[in-house]
Amino acid sequence: MALTFYNSLTRKAEPFSTTSANGVGMYTCGPTVYNYVTIGNWRTYTLGDLVARVLRYNEYKVNYYMNITDVGHLTGDNSGDADTGEDRMEKAKAREGKNAWEIAKFYTEDFKHGYTMLNLTEPEAFLPATEHIPEQIALIQQLELAGLTYRINDGIYFDTEAFEKKGFTYGVLSNLDQIKAGARVDFNPEKRNFRDFALWKFSPIDAKRDMEWQSPWGVGFPGWHSECTAMSLKYLGEQFDIHVGGEDLKSTHHPNEIAQAEGATGKSPFVHLWMHGAFLQVDGGRMGKSLGNAYTLADITARNISPLSLRYFYFSGHYRSPLNFTWEALTASDTALKRIKAIIASDSTDIEHLLAGGKVNESYREKFLSAINDDLNMPLALSVLHELVHDKNIAPSDMVVTALNFDEVFGFNLGEKSSIEIPAEVLILANKREEARNAKNWADSDKLRDSIASHGYIIKDTDKGFVIEKK
Ligand code: AMP
Ligand code: ZN
Repeated sequence: MALTFYNSLTRKAEPFSTTSANGVGMYTCGPTVYNYVTIGNWRTYTLGDLVARVLRYNEYKVNYYMNITDVGHLTGDNSGDADTGEDRMEKAKAREGKNAWEIAKFYTEDFKHGYTMLNLTEPEAFLPATEHIPEQIALIQQLELAGLTYRINDGIYFDTEAFEKKGFTYGVLSNLDQIKAGARVDFNPEKRNFRDFALWKFSPIDAKRDMEWQSPWGVGFPGWHSECTAMSLKYLGEQFDIHVGGEDLKSTHHPNEIAQAEGATGKSPFVHLWMHGAFLQVDGGRMGKSLGNAYTLADITARNISPLSLRYFYFSGHYRSPLNFTWEALTASDTALKRIKAIIASDSTDIEHLLAGGKVNESYREKFLSAINDDLNMPLALSVLHELVHDKNIAPSDMVVTALNFDEVFGFNLGEKSSIEIPAEVLILANKREEARNAKNWADSDKLRDSIASHGYIIKDTDKGFVIEKK
């Protein structure tokens, strides 16, 4: 099946194509490093990873970049008026008694650690905003030359009306309601239009910021939207293929990225395909630091659950639908993934040998490809994996080789026994016991329970399947 993605720009699913000869140019908006990244944010970064993996599976070369917002990003940035509120880095500084550079360094490291734990596609580079200040200044100068900026009391602003007078449309990604919602938010009355946004903010006269730079307009720091445009133009060119982010970025941040790029280059569209992931909810509601449910990867590993099981959980829903996180649902994903790993482990005492002997089963591969190529239908792809590992009609070597082939997309490390916290032999016994139970062979099932116990583990049955615990 031809690779198809839903494009937020055209609001329809489209067959994918690229104009670039050097691989698909792709960019995902990265974290603001002022706090721990939440499992909500990770859902969006896992979407970026998945798009890259699916492209590679379809034999495209991918040129992938992600920014690190280590300066600015005011608390009002995502909610209508992009230039109000406190600076997130400066706010964290007060909270933690460190300077803004130390905070950015600490949370950048933490983010990269989590990124590895979730097995996310390594980009060509992570791009810190603070290492690209000259590029951002140059972008603003280009916009100034094009007559798209004006100066007010607190900074240099982008003039959205002047942009439209040049024949561009502002805010194609947002819907009218979002623009109206923006209009209701209090905004700086000096702005010509509520949609206009800061390109460069001036440092306050009475205080010294940790992060500030000289510019042709005075000492200050770039507006949040400048970094993504300046850096993606630098690394991916004036027009590129794919831009990924969370759905909240559709209303302000992404329209502003587009306006800056198109205003500076005169070329439209800046990016051909815009992909937005729906939000992760927790216990059926909003996730938030103030609600105490903004879970991080550390909360997950503290419960002895692998971040790879979180990947499995993410794939249990479609990326364009909200997904509801509960600990119960994550535990069910963890159990399901462990079982698959156990089946693979039991059938692959010698993976090298199997890889030499086995081959990818074409009929399963077809089904898998149709699922992933249909705008990333991962719930269906997971069900294909389940069907495959339980299929008694295909040779174990082919099953393992096919599952490992799918794992190029899933990224579950299916072949790695070391990633299974419960020993493989215990999982194998547990799977055998499950089979015995399904066959209502209670005598065998009891014997297997005893052997599991002799390894130091207890097996419990829940309505979601079995759970294994250490004695
Ligand atoms: P932020 O650090 O707030 O700029 O968010 C970083 C990324 O995570 C952005 O792409 C957001 O759209 C995304 N994001 C924030 N909250 C959630 C959530 N609950 N579920 C999914 N993505 C989210
Ligand atoms: Zn961005």
